[in-house]
Amino acid sequence: MFGNTHPMIDSHVHIRGCKYNSVKDMIRINHEIRCKLGLDSVCVASLQAGGLNSVEQNALCILFKMTYPDCYAYAGLDHYYCGADRTAEGYLLQVKTFMEMGFDGIKFIEYKPTCYKLLEAGFTDERFALCFSYLEENRIPVLWHVADPEQNWDAAKCSIEAVENGWCYADGTFAKKEELYAEVESVLKRFPNLNIVFAHLYYLSADIDRLERFLVHYPNVRIDVTPGPSMYYNFNRDRSRWQEFFIKYKKRILFGTDNGWDDISYAQNVVEGCSQIIMMDGFFTTDQPVLAWDGTMIQGLALPDETICCLYKSNFMDMQYGKAPKKVNSMIATEYIQSVLSGVINDQTVCVETKEQLIQVLGLLQDNEVERRDFEV
Ligand SMILES: [Zn+2]
Repeated sequence: MFGNTHPMIDSHVHIRGCKYNSVKDMIRINHEIRCKLGLDSVCVASLQAGGLNSVEQNALCILFKMTYPDCYAYAGLDHYYCGADRTAEGYLLQVKTFMEMGFDGIKFIEYKPTCYKLLEAGFTDERFALCFSYLEENRIPVLWHVADPEQNWDAAKCSIEAVENGWCYADGTFAKKEELYAEVESVLKRFPNLNIVFAHLYYLSADIDRLERFLVHYPNVRIDVTPGPSMYYNFNRDRSRWQEFFIKYKKRILFGTDNGWDDISYAQNVVEGCSQIIMMDGFFTTDQPVLAWDGTMIQGLALPDETICCLYKSNFMDMQYGKAPKKVNSMIATEYIQSVLSGVINDQTVCVETKEQLIQVLGLLQDNEVERRDFEV
Protein backbone atom coordinates (compact mmCIF):
# COMPACT_ATOMS: atom_id res chain seq x y z
CA MET A 1 0.00 0.00 0.00
CA PHE A 2 1.33 3.44 -0.89
CA GLY A 3 -0.71 5.10 1.81
CA ASN A 4 1.67 3.82 4.47
CA THR A 5 4.67 5.78 3.31
CA HIS A 6 3.53 8.33 0.77
CA PRO A 7 -0.15 9.25 0.81
CA MET A 8 -1.29 9.58 -2.78
CA ILE A 9 -4.10 11.24 -4.72
CA ASP A 10 -4.35 10.42 -8.41
CA SER A 11 -5.29 13.86 -9.73
CA HIS A 12 -6.01 12.86 -13.32
CA VAL A 13 -8.14 9.81 -14.18
CA HIS A 14 -11.04 9.26 -16.56
CA ILE A 15 -14.21 7.23 -16.80
CA ARG A 16 -14.02 5.40 -20.09
CA GLY A 17 -14.65 1.87 -21.21
CA CYS A 18 -18.11 1.94 -22.74
CA LYS A 19 -17.16 -0.59 -25.40
CA TYR A 20 -16.82 -3.37 -22.86
CA ASN A 21 -18.39 -2.27 -19.61
CA SER A 22 -21.69 -1.24 -18.06
CA VAL A 23 -22.05 2.19 -16.48
CA LYS A 24 -21.66 0.65 -13.03
CA ASP A 25 -18.42 -1.06 -14.04
CA MET A 26 -17.09 2.09 -15.68
CA ILE A 27 -17.77 4.00 -12.49
CA ARG A 28 -16.13 1.34 -10.33
CA ILE A 29 -12.82 0.94 -12.20
CA ASN A 30 -10.98 3.82 -10.57
CA HIS A 31 -12.51 3.05 -7.19
CA GLU A 32 -11.17 -0.48 -7.33
CA ILE A 33 -7.69 0.66 -8.38
CA ARG A 34 -7.75 3.14 -5.53
CA CYS A 35 -8.81 0.51 -2.97
CA LYS A 36 -6.24 -2.03 -4.16
CA LEU A 37 -3.37 0.44 -3.75
CA GLY A 38 -4.65 2.42 -0.76
CA LEU A 39 -4.85 5.81 -2.50
CA ASP A 40 -6.36 8.64 -0.45
CA SER A 41 -8.56 9.85 -3.29
CA VAL A 42 -8.80 10.34 -7.04
CA CYS A 43 -10.01 13.14 -9.26
CA VAL A 44 -11.98 12.16 -12.38
CA ALA A 45 -11.74 14.54 -15.31
CA SER A 46 -14.66 14.76 -17.72
CA LEU A 47 -13.93 14.49 -21.44
CA GLN A 48 -17.26 16.16 -22.27
CA ALA A 49 -15.61 18.41 -24.85
CA GLY A 50 -14.11 15.42 -26.69
CA GLY A 51 -16.94 15.44 -29.22
CA LEU A 52 -20.63 14.77 -29.72
CA ASN A 53 -20.16 11.15 -28.63
CA SER A 54 -18.64 12.23 -25.32
CA VAL A 55 -21.59 14.21 -24.03
CA GLU A 56 -22.27 11.54 -21.38
CA GLN A 57 -18.98 12.35 -19.64
CA ASN A 58 -20.20 14.96 -17.14
CA ALA A 59 -23.06 12.64 -16.20
CA LEU A 60 -20.68 9.75 -15.52
CA CYS A 61 -18.35 11.97 -13.50
CA ILE A 62 -21.12 13.35 -11.30
CA LEU A 63 -22.41 9.81 -10.72
CA PHE A 64 -18.88 8.80 -9.71
CA LYS A 65 -18.76 11.62 -7.16
CA MET A 66 -22.18 10.74 -5.83
CA THR A 67 -21.11 7.12 -5.41
CA TYR A 68 -17.73 7.89 -3.88
CA PRO A 69 -18.24 11.19 -2.06
CA ASP A 70 -14.59 11.39 -0.96
CA CYS A 71 -13.47 11.74 -4.59
CA TYR A 72 -13.12 14.86 -6.73
CA ALA A 73 -14.48 15.48 -10.22
CA TYR A 74 -13.91 18.14 -12.88
CA ALA A 75 -16.61 18.95 -15.47
CA GLY A 76 -16.11 19.71 -19.16
CA LEU A 77 -17.84 22.44 -21.16
CA ASP A 78 -20.67 21.65 -23.55
CA HIS A 79 -20.10 22.86 -27.11
CA TYR A 80 -21.70 20.38 -29.40
CA TYR A 81 -25.14 19.03 -28.67
CA CYS A 82 -28.25 20.79 -29.79
CA GLY A 83 -29.10 23.27 -27.05
CA ALA A 84 -25.55 23.80 -25.74
CA ASP A 85 -25.34 27.55 -25.16
CA ARG A 86 -22.20 28.81 -26.90
CA THR A 87 -22.59 32.48 -26.02
CA ALA A 88 -20.42 34.25 -23.43
CA GLU A 89 -23.30 34.20 -20.95
CA GLY A 90 -24.01 30.59 -21.84
CA TYR A 91 -20.46 29.41 -21.09
CA LEU A 92 -20.49 31.36 -17.83
CA LEU A 93 -23.78 29.78 -16.85
CA GLN A 94 -22.41 26.34 -17.68
CA VAL A 95 -19.49 26.78 -15.27
CA LYS A 96 -21.78 28.12 -12.54
CA THR A 97 -24.16 25.19 -13.01
CA PHE A 98 -21.32 22.66 -12.81
CA MET A 99 -20.12 24.23 -9.58
CA GLU A 100 -23.62 24.20 -8.08
CA MET A 101 -24.01 20.61 -9.18
CA GLY A 102 -21.04 19.68 -7.02
CA PHE A 103 -18.11 19.56 -9.42
CA ASP A 104 -14.79 20.58 -7.88
CA GLY A 105 -13.21 22.06 -11.00
CA ILE A 106 -13.14 22.20 -14.80
CA LYS A 107 -11.30 20.00 -17.29
CA PHE A 108 -10.43 21.40 -20.70
CA ILE A 109 -9.71 18.79 -23.37
CA GLU A 110 -10.46 21.39 -26.06
CA TYR A 111 -6.80 22.04 -26.90
CA LYS A 112 -6.08 18.47 -27.90
CA PRO A 113 -5.83 19.03 -31.68
CA THR A 114 -8.67 16.64 -32.56
CA CYS A 115 -11.01 18.50 -30.19
CA TYR A 116 -9.76 21.94 -31.12
CA LYS A 117 -10.77 21.19 -34.69
CA LEU A 118 -14.39 20.80 -33.53
CA LEU A 119 -14.62 24.21 -31.84
CA GLU A 120 -16.26 27.19 -33.47
CA ALA A 121 -13.66 29.42 -31.81
CA GLY A 122 -10.64 29.09 -29.55
CA PHE A 123 -10.47 30.30 -25.94
CA THR A 124 -9.04 33.67 -26.94
CA ASP A 125 -12.46 34.46 -28.42
CA GLU A 126 -14.54 36.94 -26.40
CA ARG A 127 -17.24 34.33 -25.85
CA PHE A 128 -14.94 32.62 -23.31
CA ALA A 129 -13.93 35.79 -21.45
CA LEU A 130 -16.69 35.72 -18.82
CA CYS A 131 -16.04 32.06 -18.18
CA PHE A 132 -12.28 32.52 -17.63
CA SER A 133 -12.81 35.58 -15.53
CA TYR A 134 -15.23 33.65 -13.30
CA LEU A 135 -12.79 30.73 -13.01
CA GLU A 136 -10.04 33.15 -12.07
CA GLU A 137 -12.04 35.18 -9.55
CA ASN A 138 -13.35 32.10 -7.81
CA ARG A 139 -10.02 30.27 -7.97
CA ILE A 140 -11.76 27.24 -9.43
CA PRO A 141 -9.31 24.41 -10.19
CA VAL A 142 -8.75 23.93 -13.93
CA LEU A 143 -7.03 20.96 -15.58
CA TRP A 144 -6.10 21.85 -19.15
CA HIS A 145 -4.82 19.46 -21.84
CA VAL A 146 -2.87 21.39 -24.48
CA ALA A 147 -1.33 19.91 -27.65
CA ASP A 148 0.22 16.42 -27.77
CA PRO A 149 3.78 15.05 -28.21
CA GLU A 150 5.63 16.90 -30.99
CA GLN A 151 6.14 13.70 -33.02
CA ASN A 152 2.36 13.55 -33.62
CA TRP A 153 2.75 16.39 -36.16
CA ASP A 154 5.32 14.36 -38.11
CA ALA A 155 3.97 11.38 -40.09
CA ALA A 156 7.39 9.70 -40.13
CA LYS A 157 7.81 9.85 -36.35
CA CYS A 158 4.24 9.42 -35.13
CA SER A 159 3.68 6.24 -33.07
CA ILE A 160 1.40 3.47 -34.37
CA GLU A 161 -0.95 3.96 -31.40
CA ALA A 162 -1.25 7.65 -32.18
CA VAL A 163 -2.03 6.94 -35.83
CA GLU A 164 -4.62 4.31 -34.84
CA ASN A 165 -6.31 6.75 -32.48
CA GLY A 166 -6.45 9.49 -35.11
CA TRP A 167 -3.83 11.57 -33.27
CA CYS A 168 -1.45 12.07 -36.19
CA TYR A 169 -1.68 15.75 -37.17
CA ALA A 170 0.62 15.78 -40.18
CA ASP A 171 -2.03 16.30 -42.86
CA GLY A 172 -2.18 20.07 -42.37
CA THR A 173 -5.83 20.18 -41.23
CA PHE A 174 -4.98 20.46 -37.51
CA ALA A 175 -3.77 23.43 -35.50
CA LYS A 176 0.01 23.54 -35.10
CA LYS A 177 1.49 22.93 -31.67
CA GLU A 178 2.83 26.50 -31.52
CA GLU A 179 -0.54 27.97 -32.46
CA LEU A 180 -2.11 26.19 -29.51
CA TYR A 181 0.63 27.42 -27.16
CA ALA A 182 0.27 30.98 -28.41
CA GLU A 183 -3.45 30.97 -27.62
CA VAL A 184 -2.90 29.47 -24.18
CA GLU A 185 -0.33 32.13 -23.37
CA SER A 186 -2.66 34.89 -24.42
CA VAL A 187 -5.32 33.45 -22.07
CA LEU A 188 -2.75 33.28 -19.26
CA LYS A 189 -1.66 36.88 -19.86
CA ARG A 190 -5.23 38.06 -19.61
CA PHE A 191 -6.10 35.82 -16.63
CA PRO A 192 -2.82 35.40 -14.76
CA ASN A 193 -4.38 34.21 -11.51
CA LEU A 194 -6.10 31.12 -12.86
CA ASN A 195 -5.81 28.14 -10.51
CA ILE A 196 -4.58 25.93 -13.29
CA VAL A 197 -2.65 22.73 -13.96
CA PHE A 198 -1.48 21.74 -17.42
CA ALA A 199 -1.67 18.02 -18.14
CA HIS A 200 1.27 15.93 -19.34
CA LEU A 201 3.94 18.49 -18.44
CA TYR A 202 2.35 20.83 -20.98
CA TYR A 203 3.93 18.50 -23.58
CA LEU A 204 7.24 20.28 -23.15
CA SER A 205 9.25 17.39 -21.72
CA ALA A 206 11.44 17.39 -24.85
CA ASP A 207 12.50 20.96 -24.00
CA ILE A 208 13.21 21.32 -20.30
CA ASP A 209 14.56 24.88 -20.73
CA ARG A 210 11.36 26.04 -22.31
CA LEU A 211 9.26 24.28 -19.68
CA GLU A 212 11.26 26.01 -16.97
CA ARG A 213 10.83 29.41 -18.65
CA PHE A 214 7.10 28.75 -18.82
CA LEU A 215 6.89 28.00 -15.08
CA VAL A 216 8.98 31.06 -14.23
CA HIS A 217 6.95 33.32 -16.48
CA TYR A 218 3.59 32.14 -15.15
CA PRO A 219 4.12 31.61 -11.43
CA ASN A 220 0.56 30.40 -10.78
CA VAL A 221 0.51 27.51 -13.21
CA ARG A 222 1.14 23.91 -12.31
CA ILE A 223 1.87 20.86 -14.47
CA ASP A 224 1.11 17.14 -14.05
CA VAL A 225 3.17 14.01 -14.76
CA THR A 226 0.34 12.03 -16.34
CA PRO A 227 2.08 9.94 -19.06
CA GLY A 228 2.63 10.54 -22.33
CA PRO A 229 5.27 7.75 -22.22
CA SER A 230 7.62 10.00 -24.21
CA MET A 231 7.82 12.26 -21.15
CA TYR A 232 9.42 9.47 -19.16
CA TYR A 233 11.93 8.63 -21.89
CA ASN A 234 12.86 12.31 -21.94
CA PHE A 235 13.35 12.25 -18.13
CA ASN A 236 15.57 9.23 -18.57
CA ARG A 237 17.77 11.01 -21.13
CA ASP A 238 18.84 13.67 -18.68
CA ARG A 239 18.21 12.23 -15.24
CA SER A 240 20.21 14.64 -13.13
CA ARG A 241 18.73 17.70 -14.81
CA TRP A 242 15.20 16.37 -14.26
CA GLN A 243 15.95 15.45 -10.66
CA GLU A 244 16.95 19.07 -10.08
CA PHE A 245 13.84 20.24 -11.92
CA PHE A 246 11.47 18.13 -9.82
CA ILE A 247 13.10 19.33 -6.61
CA LYS A 248 13.21 22.97 -7.64
CA TYR A 249 9.56 23.02 -8.77
CA LYS A 250 8.30 20.55 -6.20
CA LYS A 251 5.33 22.78 -5.30
CA ARG A 252 4.14 22.96 -8.89
CA ILE A 253 3.87 19.33 -10.08
CA LEU A 254 0.93 16.94 -9.60
CA PHE A 255 0.67 13.18 -9.86
CA GLY A 256 -1.79 11.70 -12.38
CA THR A 257 -2.16 8.56 -14.49
CA ASP A 258 -4.97 8.86 -17.09
CA ASN A 259 -6.26 5.54 -15.70
CA GLY A 260 -9.62 4.31 -16.99
CA TRP A 261 -9.23 3.33 -20.66
CA ASP A 262 -11.81 2.80 -23.34
CA ASP A 263 -10.52 -0.13 -25.35
CA ILE A 264 -9.97 -2.66 -22.56
CA SER A 265 -12.16 -4.66 -20.19
CA TYR A 266 -12.89 -3.95 -16.55
CA ALA A 267 -10.37 -6.53 -15.32
CA GLN A 268 -7.66 -5.27 -17.67
CA ASN A 269 -8.33 -1.70 -16.63
CA VAL A 270 -7.80 -2.58 -12.98
CA VAL A 271 -4.65 -4.61 -13.62
CA GLU A 272 -3.12 -2.04 -15.97
CA GLY A 273 -4.20 0.88 -13.79
CA CYS A 274 -2.51 -0.62 -10.74
CA SER A 275 0.67 -1.44 -12.63
CA GLN A 276 0.75 2.07 -14.08
CA ILE A 277 0.82 3.51 -10.56
CA ILE A 278 3.31 0.95 -9.26
CA MET A 279 5.62 1.60 -12.20
CA MET A 280 5.41 5.40 -11.80
CA ASP A 281 5.92 5.12 -8.03
CA GLY A 282 9.03 2.99 -8.61
CA PHE A 283 10.29 5.56 -11.09
CA PHE A 284 9.82 8.56 -8.81
CA THR A 285 10.83 7.05 -5.46
CA THR A 286 13.75 4.71 -6.29
CA ASP A 287 16.88 4.77 -8.43
CA GLN A 288 16.14 1.26 -9.69
CA PRO A 289 15.48 0.41 -13.33
CA VAL A 290 11.75 0.10 -14.01
CA LEU A 291 10.08 -1.52 -16.99
CA ALA A 292 8.60 1.23 -19.18
CA TRP A 293 5.68 1.09 -21.61
CA ASP A 294 7.80 0.21 -24.64
CA GLY A 295 9.54 -2.70 -22.89
CA THR A 296 12.78 -0.81 -22.24
CA MET A 297 14.15 -0.12 -18.78
CA ILE A 298 14.31 3.42 -17.44
CA GLN A 299 16.17 4.35 -14.29
CA GLY A 300 14.20 5.87 -11.42
CA LEU A 301 14.69 9.48 -10.31
CA ALA A 302 14.84 8.67 -6.56
CA LEU A 303 13.29 11.99 -5.57
CA PRO A 304 13.51 13.04 -1.92
CA ASP A 305 10.57 12.34 0.40
CA GLU A 306 9.55 15.97 0.64
CA THR A 307 9.32 16.27 -3.15
CA ILE A 308 7.33 13.03 -3.35
CA CYS A 309 4.83 14.22 -0.72
CA CYS A 310 4.19 17.41 -2.72
CA LEU A 311 3.92 15.49 -5.99
CA TYR A 312 1.65 12.74 -4.69
CA LYS A 313 -0.77 14.74 -2.62
CA SER A 314 -0.16 18.17 -1.18
CA ASN A 315 0.04 20.08 -4.48
CA PHE A 316 -3.35 18.72 -5.48
CA MET A 317 -4.76 19.65 -2.08
CA ASP A 318 -3.27 23.16 -2.45
CA MET A 319 -5.28 23.54 -5.65
CA GLN A 320 -8.40 22.64 -3.64
CA TYR A 321 -7.36 25.06 -0.87
CA GLY A 322 -7.31 22.01 1.40
CA LYS A 323 -11.03 21.50 0.92
CA ALA A 324 -12.78 18.13 0.92
CA PRO A 325 -14.70 17.21 -2.25
CA LYS A 326 -17.93 19.12 -2.77
CA LYS A 327 -21.28 17.44 -2.18
CA VAL A 328 -23.38 16.56 -5.21
CA ASN A 329 -26.71 18.31 -5.66
CA SER A 330 -28.64 15.48 -7.33
CA MET A 331 -31.54 17.72 -8.31
CA ILE A 332 -29.36 20.09 -10.34
CA ALA A 333 -27.43 17.12 -11.73
CA THR A 334 -30.67 15.46 -12.85
CA GLU A 335 -31.94 18.62 -14.53
CA TYR A 336 -28.64 19.07 -16.32
CA ILE A 337 -28.47 15.48 -17.59
CA GLN A 338 -32.08 15.68 -18.75
CA SER A 339 -31.24 18.77 -20.78
CA VAL A 340 -28.24 17.05 -22.40
CA LEU A 341 -30.34 13.98 -23.16
CA SER A 342 -33.08 16.03 -24.77
CA GLY A 343 -30.41 17.70 -26.92
CA VAL A 344 -29.12 14.38 -28.30
CA ILE A 345 -32.01 11.94 -28.13
CA ASN A 346 -33.21 12.57 -31.68
CA ASP A 347 -29.77 13.18 -33.13
CA GLN A 348 -28.87 10.23 -35.36
CA THR A 349 -25.19 11.22 -35.36
CA VAL A 350 -24.92 10.52 -31.62
CA CYS A 351 -24.16 6.88 -30.89
CA VAL A 352 -26.65 4.69 -29.07
CA GLU A 353 -24.18 3.96 -26.23
CA THR A 354 -23.93 7.65 -25.39
CA LYS A 355 -27.69 8.02 -25.14
CA GLU A 356 -28.03 4.79 -23.17
CA GLN A 357 -25.42 5.90 -20.68
CA LEU A 358 -27.20 9.20 -20.11
CA ILE A 359 -30.43 7.31 -19.51
CA GLN A 360 -28.74 4.86 -17.14
CA VAL A 361 -27.13 7.64 -15.11
CA LEU A 362 -30.47 9.43 -14.86
CA GLY A 363 -32.07 6.26 -13.60
CA LEU A 364 -29.40 5.80 -10.95
CA LEU A 365 -29.65 9.42 -9.82
CA GLN A 366 -33.45 9.28 -9.72
CA ASP A 367 -33.34 6.33 -7.36
CA ASN A 368 -32.54 9.25 -5.13
CA GLU A 369 -29.80 7.31 -3.55
CA VAL A 370 -27.08 5.53 -5.43
CA GLU A 371 -27.04 1.98 -4.17
CA ARG A 372 -23.59 1.94 -2.75
CA ARG A 373 -23.38 -1.78 -2.29
CA ASP A 374 -23.59 -2.24 -6.06
CA PHE A 375 -20.41 -0.29 -6.41
CA GLU A 376 -18.35 -1.78 -3.63
CA VAL A 377 -15.37 -3.84 -4.56
ZN1 LIG B 1 -6.34 12.70 -19.45
